[in-house]
Formats: sequence, structure tokens, C-alpha cells
Amino acid sequence: MGDVITIDGPAGSGKSTVARLLAKRLGYTYLDTGAMYRAVALLVREREIDLENKEEIKSICENIDIRFLQDEDLQRVFIGDRDITHDIRTSEIDMLSSHVSAIKEVREAMTYLQRKIAQNRNIIAEGRDMGTVVFPDAKIKFFLTASFEVRAKRRYLERKERGEDVTLDKIKEELKKRDQQDESRRISPLKPAPDATIIDTTDLAVEDVINKMLFYIEKS
Ligand code: C5P
Repeated sequence: MGDVITIDGPAGSGKSTVARLLAKRLGYTYLDTGAMYRAVALLVREREIDLENKEEIKSICENIDIRFLQDEDLQRVFIGDRDITHDIRTSEIDMLSSHVSAIKEVREAMTYLQRKIAQNRNIIAEGRDMGTVVFPDAKIKFFLTASFEVRAKRRYLERKERGEDVTLDKIKEELKKRDQQDESRRISPLKPAPDATIIDTTDLAVEDVINKMLFYIEKS
């Protein structure tokens, strides 16, 4: 197993951006585990599989070929040769990935894949349960938080930039639902590992967050 640094936190806490940049600085591989749940959700939707149909969903997870390709400013996500980078970033997949990720069979399959990816490289693992469940022995763990208002605003601006026609109220409503779902599910709920360093990013620029992280990493 290579070195693992875990970064967990709710949607909009800034974890994807800092995880990607930190990985670049340290020469680690960035593992976006949310994208993996989103990829599963995309196939579940396209194949119109009922969420109660655990056998079919399990079969998707066992056969899915998720690949990542690091572009300069963006990590592209593929299923086999198909580029799904944009298809998995819709409001619908936001919600569906949260539903799908509460299914035991899905979590088991993704956990297995995530550990496999970490076997022979150094990674920054970003998600909801990296420090608590998937890599409990990681030496360095971070948990990012931010106020609800700021997280909603970040999501809103992200969507606007992509040219989507959204309102801040709608984003808030979706974010609240997803937070509740991710925090209250029975298996691997979103919560900080007891040994995680918590960073509140509400008033911090990306560079400040990265500097704080580098400080902790160098100290440890
Ligand atoms: O991080 P992102 O918003 O892309 O994640 C999408 C969804 O995938 C989350 O709302 C959460 O339900 C799920 N997820 C998870 N465990 C992870 C990463 C993501 O349950 N490690």
C-alpha cells in the first residue's frame, strides 16, 4: 500500500478542488471517490434499474470499468472508453448518487476498488468515508467543513459557470437533502474520523486551505 492522505467532508466544503491541487503539489494520485458513486448512479439511471433491485445494481458495480485521466485543470472520468466527466455532474446524478451510495452492495464494491487503486501508488483519497471506513489507518486525515450558506453559494456559482439555469434556493434545497441523506445513512455515514484534522473553509481561499494542509503534513 502506498501513502494515503484522506480528505472527507460534505458537498461544497471545497474538498475536490484542494484534493486535486494538493495531489499535484505532492505528486500523488487524486482519487475522486464521489465520481465513482456518480458513475454507478449514471448507469443505474440509463438502464432504468429500480433501486430495490440489488442484484442488478451489484452486477453493475462488479463490472463497471471506471477510469480517471488527469488533465491540466480537470480530472476526466470514463466508463471504459466513454467520457462521462460532464454527464455525472447534473443535479439528478447529485441526488441519485447519494441514494445509490447508501446501498450496502455498492459501498462494498466501491470500497474494494478504492483500496485496490491505493495498492501501488500514493493517493489523496477524497470522499465521505475515506478516513473512517476505507482507509482507517491513513496517517494523515482531513475533514473539511464550511457554513451551509457558503457551501450552497459555491455550488451555485459552479453550476452557473457551467451555463446551467439554476437558482440559489433550488441548490439550497438539494444540498440540504443530500447532507441529510449522507449524514443519516446507516452504513458509512458522513462524519469526521476521530483522528482527522478539521478545517473550516468558510472564510478561507483555496491556497490558504492547501497551506494549512501542507503545514500539517510537514509536521507529521
Ligand atoms: O463528492 P460528490 O458530491 O461527488 O459525491 C456524490 C455522492 O456520492 C455523495 O452525495 C455521497 O452520497 C456519495 N459518496 C459517498 N462516499 C464517498 C464519496 C461520495 O457516499 N466516499
